[in-house]
Amino acid sequence: MRILLVEDDADLQRLLKRALSDAGYVVDAAGDGEEGHFLGDTEPYDAVILDLGLPKMDGVRVLEKWRKAGRTMPVLILTARDRWSDKVAGFDAGADDYLAKPFYTEELLARVRALLRRAAGLATSEIEIGPLRIDTRASRVTLDGNPVKLTSLEYRLLSYLAHHRGKVVSRTELVEHLYDQDFDRDSNTIEVFVGRLRRKLDSNLIQTVRGLGYCLEIPGAARDEDRAKA
Ligand code: CA
Repeated sequence: MRILLVEDDADLQRLLKRALSDAGYVVDAAGDGEEGHFLGDTEPYDAVILDLGLPKMDGVRVLEKWRKAGRTMPVLILTARDRWSDKVAGFDAGADDYLAKPFYTEELLARVRALLRRAAGLATSEIEIGPLRIDTRASRVTLDGNPVKLTSLEYRLLSYLAHHRGKVVSRTELVEHLYDQDFDRDSNTIEVFVGRLRRKLDSNLIQTVRGLGYCLEIPGAARDEDRAKA
C-alpha cells in the first residue's frame, strides 16, 4: 500500500513518515501544497494524509482540485484543534476522515488502516482467505494457524493482493504500489517476490493470470472478472 503524506512541518513529516514505513506502507512525502497536488494527481496512491495549512496551495484547494479531476483515493485531513470550520471545508472538498493536531501516531495508523479497509470493502483489520490470515494491525500472517515469516516487501505484496482479493492485479500496478517514487522500478523483480511468497504460502493461493498479472483467491473460487462474465 502506497501513501502520500503532505505535511509542511518537517519534524512531524519525518515522524509520520517513519511510523508509516514501520507499519509496512510505502510513503511519498511532500512539504507544500503544489508538490503534494502534483504527486496526488500523477501517482497512484492507496490513501493520502493531507495537512490543511500548507505553503503554496492550501490543503482544501489541493483536495478540491484532485476531486474535480476525478481522483477518488481516500484522503485523511490534518486540522488544527480549534478550527471546526476547517473540518467542514475539508469534508465538503471531499475528505474521508480527519484528525485534529496534536494526535497520537497510533490513532493516525488506525484511521489509515480503516480507510484502506473501507476502500477494499473489508469489515475488519483481519483478512481471512482460506487457510491464510493477515492481521493488518500487527502486520502478522498465519497459514493454518502457523506464523509465516515474511520480509517487509513480501508482506506489502501480500497485503496489497489481499486488499484486492479476487481481482487481477498487474505487475505494473504492483510496482507502482509497492515502491516509492525514488525506487528504481523493475517489474521483473515482482515475479521473484511472488515466487518467494508462493513458496512460503500455500502456492495455489496466488494465481498467475497469463498476460495480465496475479490474483489472490482460494483455488476454485471465481474471480471478479469471471463473475462479471458469467
Ligand atoms: Ca501545516
